[in-house]
Amino acid sequence: MLKKEVTPAPLGNVTIDGPFWAQRMKINRERTIPYEYKMLKKTGRVDSLKLGWKPGKEPVPHIFWDSDIAKWIEAASYSLTTHPDSKLDSLINGLVRLITKVQQPDGYLNTYFTVVEPGKRWTNLCDQHELYCAGHLFEAAVAHFQATGKRTLLDVACRYAGHIDATFGREPGKKRGYPGHEEIELALMKLYHVTGEKRYANLAKFFVDERGQQAHYFDREAIERGEDAANFRARTYEYNQSHKTVREQDKVVGHAVRAMYLFSGTADVTAEFSDEGLRAALDHLWNNLTSKCMYITGGIGPTRQNEGFTKDYDLSNETAYAETCAAIGLVLWAHRMLQFECDGCYADIMERALYNGVLSGVSLDGEKFFYVNPLTSLDSHQGDYKDVPERMRARLEPYRQEWFECACCPPNIARLIASLGNYVYSQSETDAVVHLYIGGTASLRVAGQTVRLRLDTRYPWDGKVVITVEPETPASFGLKLRIPAWCREFSIKVNGAAVKSPQVKRGYIQIEREWKAGDRVELRFSMPVELVKAHPKVRDDIGRVAIQRGPLIYCLEQADNNASLNQIVLPRDAKLEAHFEPDLLSGVVVIHGDGFVADDSDWDNQLYRFVSDQQKCFRISAIPYYAWNNRGRGEMEIWIRTDT
Ligand SMILES: [Zn+2]
Repeated sequence: MLKKEVTPAPLGNVTIDGPFWAQRMKINRERTIPYEYKMLKKTGRVDSLKLGWKPGKEPVPHIFWDSDIAKWIEAASYSLTTHPDSKLDSLINGLVRLITKVQQPDGYLNTYFTVVEPGKRWTNLCDQHELYCAGHLFEAAVAHFQATGKRTLLDVACRYAGHIDATFGREPGKKRGYPGHEEIELALMKLYHVTGEKRYANLAKFFVDERGQQAHYFDREAIERGEDAANFRARTYEYNQSHKTVREQDKVVGHAVRAMYLFSGTADVTAEFSDEGLRAALDHLWNNLTSKCMYITGGIGPTRQNEGFTKDYDLSNETAYAETCAAIGLVLWAHRMLQFECDGCYADIMERALYNGVLSGVSLDGEKFFYVNPLTSLDSHQGDYKDVPERMRARLEPYRQEWFECACCPPNIARLIASLGNYVYSQSETDAVVHLYIGGTASLRVAGQTVRLRLDTRYPWDGKVVITVEPETPASFGLKLRIPAWCREFSIKVNGAAVKSPQVKRGYIQIEREWKAGDRVELRFSMPVELVKAHPKVRDDIGRVAIQRGPLIYCLEQADNNASLNQIVLPRDAKLEAHFEPDLLSGVVVIHGDGFVADDSDWDNQLYRFVSDQQKCFRISAIPYYAWNNRGRGEMEIWIRTDT
């Protein structure tokens, strides 16, 4: 489909009060967002907006600092949408006032190129993140406007977008460039949707279409700078997905976050311009990513070398990069694909990333973060990255950090959690759609009226979901409910009567009837503990299984398993039991089962010996992956050795 089949429910029309996410959102609001502001201030990012930097002074504003501030404003604005807070509002206003003063008379707005390298603006799109920072500013402005109705930041963003539109394009005298780090494409589409200014959409389309054209723009700008384009630090334009035009691409390559932002922006452009060629490319890229290049956690990008993709089925666990931002980017892209086609294949991936590879990125107390999200941590690979400059090592450590020099991930996860309401429901003239089972309410626009849904559940701990439907007046429309791919058995009742042999189409069940206020739908997803294996070509996972229950991927953590995790064997026929432990890790379902562990007690000085069965029984205890490393440092493992 080239046009979107459904649209998301606006953030302001959704509330979340279900126990799992209400708790995460409260911590995001009360701890993470204020903490991140403090860190933006402490690290000099806020003060850099005063443009007082002079050569020799520390800290030197960095090329992406503007984006850290913008992402924080975006997160804080989403939070204001659902939870008004005058103190937070005034912190945002303070930043907006500073940003307004950074804007140059011609509309240009970037602290780094105003104080550190004046005169060099737009000379190195390949590496310098100018358009990337602009994109995040636009997203912040749109969120701020939607949350508060204030045009202060939106007007600044529109002036800057006007400047960029006057600078880039195919017309004579304009630069035919595009960003080295994508992001502005999706941001311009947001700016277009909120202002109605079609030139923003046209500019987004230009950036998508121009990418990868020959002669290569990044070569040409390097020559103009008097440099050799071959010295490009990543050595290949696959790094930023400009090795081919987007419509020629069928395999995910390069830096994973860049790829996700590009494909998200491309999806928006595709919908606006009904572009068949771009849609076909997105389908190929989606299939390649999700069938060959994605971790079981929804993490993507296995290597730190390019912070991104390598080759199909190359999914090493211990050295997995799987940047938090990349999993967030996958949620953004999946959500856009889901609006094109209300197909569970997109919602399943969105949910997988959200509950696992995204949520692992922030600690339970909301003030520590993962940049990389490995699937195994034997706590011994510290120091293996001596080739990495010391200031950049924090991101590679196998335990959560207070902050990073490149701090893209912390405000990114804050903005995703604060805007979670966006991802739960969609609407169309004929259907109300539930994608994610998160307790709360929504006001949807369906069948020419407002339809209120009330959703009650303990998901992901329990598979029971009750939905109360409340149209203003009785009306006929479809209620579309996602049946998750992880669920093998479910039942559904409407007003207490079982729906006989419900038909699941494209991952959803559709109930068509005349709905009246108080109608009650009850879903029961059976949620047994499952063992999962990987495609045999994934070398790291051969002879291993992962534990999954509902949408959650589990892991062993040293705190619960007093053994070297790699020596633990979980038999395929092990009886696994799940039970909720309210006092552990803010309340989690823990999984127990009987396995074995290698007996190394009588090996003395031997390194090798003939095969014998020397193992002892071992009680295995697994916790949800997202919750690991909240009880100090230690080993962690998702893929557990099995017996056959
Ligand atoms: Zn990041």
